[in-house]
Amino acid sequence: MIRSLVVAVAAACLPVSVLAASSTCGADALGTSRTLVLKREGAAYGTEQHGPLPLKPGEVVLTFDDGPRAESTPPVLTALADQCVKATFFMVGENMVKNPDLARRIVAEGHSTAMHSLNHRNMSQLSESEQRADLKANQDAYSATLGTAAPAYRFPFLAESAPLLSELKAQGVTVMSVDLGIQDWLPDQTADILTARLLSQLKLKGGGIILMHDGQDITAASLPQMLKALKDNGYRVVHVEWEK
Ligand SMILES: [Zn+2]
Repeated sequence: MIRSLVVAVAAACLPVSVLAASSTCGADALGTSRTLVLKREGAAYGTEQHGPLPLKPGEVVLTFDDGPRAESTPPVLTALADQCVKATFFMVGENMVKNPDLARRIVAEGHSTAMHSLNHRNMSQLSESEQRADLKANQDAYSATLGTAAPAYRFPFLAESAPLLSELKAQGVTVMSVDLGIQDWLPDQTADILTARLLSQLKLKGGGIILMHDGQDITAASLPQMLKALKDNGYRVVHVEWEK
């Protein structure tokens, strides 16, 4: 608690660029072990639906969907900062428009960002023209908020559709599925339940892209325990970024 407070006070005094480059965490922190920089190309990753990322056994990639959300995204960012880990946020376009400063804070704190549709409709249930319009509106919301083009996309509900897959490929946008999830969208979850599920899934898969939701209060509340469990069990965090 004291260390968190000191880090928070120190953080408030530092410009963002210094913050991103500095390491205020000690050896007891989880930390980011390496950064994997992907090309801006129409590749697709995540063994739920595609091939794996080039990860070694025991390496994990932290991903968060459905934000930015005013109630739950800030505590997620705090938990990540406390452990010096970087993640990837797949943001819903309408939530970016609603919380632009929060979207920009995610980038300023060194995390990578990507798209997760305009308002979380199931693409596989929309017409082809509706899917293309949704992607265009999602891209417009992203670039209007962050000033850059989104490098990657994750389908809502992981419900991929052939027309949008080919559109994303043609545009050189990476599709990111997942290797494992913690089902944090189920009702009546607790930190113990989510942590146990995370560890059992990791034991099964050996590592990979982890799907979590910064739109969920329980995920934000459980993240410190889950990150500690990753550290205690020897998993190493890889931060996925894209070429500028
Ligand atoms: Zn989602």
